[in-house]
Amino acid sequence: MATTQHVIIGNGIAGISAAEVLRAGDPDSAITIIGDESETPYCRPMISLVLEGALGPERLPIRGTDYYQQFGITPVLGRRVTAVDTSRREVHINGARPVIYDKLLIASGADPRPVKAEGRDLDNIFYLRHQAHVRGMLAVMPDARKALVLGGGLVGFKAAYGLLRRGIQVTMLIRSGYPLSMQADAEAGRMVLTELRAHGLEVRVGAEVTAFEGGPAVRAAVLSDGSRLACDLVVIGKGVLPSLAFVRRDQIAVDLGIVVDRHMRTTAPDVYAAGDVAEGMDLARGTRWVNAIWPEAVAQGRLAGTNMAGREVAGEGSLGRNVIRIFGLDIMTGGIVDPPADDDGFTVVSALDPRRRTYRKLVFQKNRLVGMVMVNAIEQGGVLLGLIQSRMPVRLPAETLLANGFNYKQLLME
Ligand SMILES: Cc1cc2nc3c(=O)[nH]c(=O)nc-3n(C[C@H](O)[C@H](O)[C@H](O)COP(=O)(O)OP(=O)(O)OC[C@H]3O[C@@H](n4cnc5c(N)ncnc54)[C@H](O)[C@@H]3O)c2cc1C
Repeated sequence: MATTQHVIIGNGIAGISAAEVLRAGDPDSAITIIGDESETPYCRPMISLVLEGALGPERLPIRGTDYYQQFGITPVLGRRVTAVDTSRREVHINGARPVIYDKLLIASGADPRPVKAEGRDLDNIFYLRHQAHVRGMLAVMPDARKALVLGGGLVGFKAAYGLLRRGIQVTMLIRSGYPLSMQADAEAGRMVLTELRAHGLEVRVGAEVTAFEGGPAVRAAVLSDGSRLACDLVVIGKGVLPSLAFVRRDQIAVDLGIVVDRHMRTTAPDVYAAGDVAEGMDLARGTRWVNAIWPEAVAQGRLAGTNMAGREVAGEGSLGRNVIRIFGLDIMTGGIVDPPADDDGFTVVSALDPRRRTYRKLVFQKNRLVGMVMVNAIEQGGVLLGLIQSRMPVRLPAETLLANGFNYKQLLME
C-alpha cells in the first residue's frame, strides 16, 4: 500500500501538535511540514520576554534541534506557501517544486493586522509576531529614545511593557476608549488604563495614526486629531487576522478564518485547519469564532492530527480566555465579556470594589454562564471557566457564583 503523504502548512504550535499525534497514530506515513520561519518550533507568547530582556532567545525553543529527525518529519523551512490547489492536491511553495498531499493541514496561524497609514514602510516600524521582529527591535534599540505602540490589546501591552523595561519612553495609542477592549469590558479597561498610566506609560485613547514621517527611519507619527508625536521606534500591535492569503476561496470556505467542523475538517476533501487560522464552534457563543490563543492551537492541532490519522474524533469547540498580569492587576477573562446592551437574552451581575481594586463580572445566557471578567480576584476563575466550557446549566443564584469564596463544592451540592 502506498504511504500516505501528510503535508502541514505552518511550523507553529498547531502544526507540530498535529504532526506529533499523526506520527503516533500513523507511524508509516510521510509527514512534511512547510514553514516560512526557519527556527525550530518556539514559544511565540514568550517572544515579548526576550524583548524586555527577561529571557535570552535560546530559551524560546519548545522542541530540540533533532526534533524533525526524531519524529520522521521532512521540514521545508524558510519557505512560504503561495497557493494550495485542492483539485490537484498541490501545495505551491515559493522557490521550490509543488508538494503533493493525500491529506493537508493548514496551520498557518495569523498575521498582525496592518495599519493603513502613509509612511508605513519607514525603517524602525515593527510588528511583534515572529522572533525575527524581536531581533529587529533589539538591533535598533540602543538608539531608540521614544517608542510608540499602536494597539492596547495583549500584544500591544506586552510590547509597551518590554520597551519600558528597556528604559525607553513609551506612548500607547489605543483607538477604542480603553485598553484590552477585545479581552475585557469597559470597567476592567478603565482599571487597566489607570494602572498603565501609574506605571509610567503615556496612553492616548480614541486616537490613531494617519501617517508616519521621517526617512529612512521613522521620526514622528501624525495622529487623527492632527497632532504629531515624535518617535524613533514603532510597534504595531493592533490584533491579528488569520493567515490565509494562499487559500482559494472557491475551493475552501473562509469566513474570517478557515471554516472547520468538529473534526477540524475544512469544506475541501482531506483538507484540515487548526490554530489561529481556523474558525470553528465557540462554546460560549454557540456560533463559529476564531479563538486565537495558544492552548486552543494545541488542542485543535491534536484534534486535527488524530482525525488525519484516521480516528474519527469530534471536538466540543473552543473558548476564548486570557490570564494576564498588568503591573499590579491580575486579570482573567473568558467567553462573552461584553454582551450587547440591547439583547435581553443576557443577564449580567458584577461587583466592583474600588478600594481593594477588585472587579468581578459574570455573564449568563438563560441559566448558562457564558462569560466572565475578573480583576485581582481570580481565585475561582478556573472553576468558572470550566462552567462556561461545560455549558452546564447553573442552578445556584448568580450572586453566589460572584461572591468571594465561591467554590466547587457549592456547585456539586446544588
Ligand atoms: C507577542 C505575543 C504574545 C502572545 N501571548 C499569548 C498569551 O499570553 N496567551 C495565549 O494563549 N496566546 C498568546 N499569543 C498567541 C499565540 O502565540 C497564538 O495563539 C499561537 O501561536 C497560535 O499558534 P498557531 O500554530 O496557530 O500559529 P503560529 O504560531 O502563528 O504559527 C504559524 C506558522 O505558520 C507560518 N506561516 C504562515 N503563513 C505561511 C505560509 N504561507 N507559508 C509557510 N508558513 C506560513 C507562520 O510564519 C508561523 O511560523 C501571543 C502571541 C504573540 C505574538
